[in-house]
Amino acid sequence: MDPTQLTGNVIIDRGPLGMRVTCVQDIDVGAALFRVIGRPVPRPDKYSIQIAARLHLAPDGAPWSLVNHACAPNTAIDFSQWTLYAVRRIREGEELGWSYLTTEWALSCPFECACGAADCVRRVLGFKFLSARQRAALRPLLSPYLRRRFREGVEDNPSPACAQPTRTAQAP
Ligand SMILES: [Zn+2]
Repeated sequence: MDPTQLTGNVIIDRGPLGMRVTCVQDIDVGAALFRVIGRPVPRPDKYSIQIAARLHLAPDGAPWSLVNHACAPNTAIDFSQWTLYAVRRIREGEELGWSYLTTEWALSCPFECACGAADCVRRVLGFKFLSARQRAALRPLLSPYLRRRFREGVEDNPSPACAQPTRTAQAP
């Protein structure tokens, strides 16, 4: 097991839509699942998370980055501990997901979502593109950077062009 994986209750494998992380034994709410590690980089790519206006964390293949996007996520990033943790009880057989919209103002590589949630945003473009209601719903899970932007109402940010093929819903 990778040292940044903090629980034996999940497995990483290849699903029909790409790599995924699945719960193999029930996980309690609050449980830490992965350490969120990476390398600070000035430009985003489809795996990085945004930590400041021009600063992103590139996971370089770290296991946390194999957790796919979900519009109704069962995990989120704890930015005080830099861990991915369970935001509710996760049952055996469920795939883990966190919302990329809680860290990305404008995704460098937007994609179509097929998470199946009732309130799925369908096209995952970034926090910038959400309605006021959608933004408010994500507020408790937001990164410190987006929380600050949300509070200050800063809207401007040129989004970099996507240099890679747009990915499908689940493929990392
Ligand atoms: Zn969705």
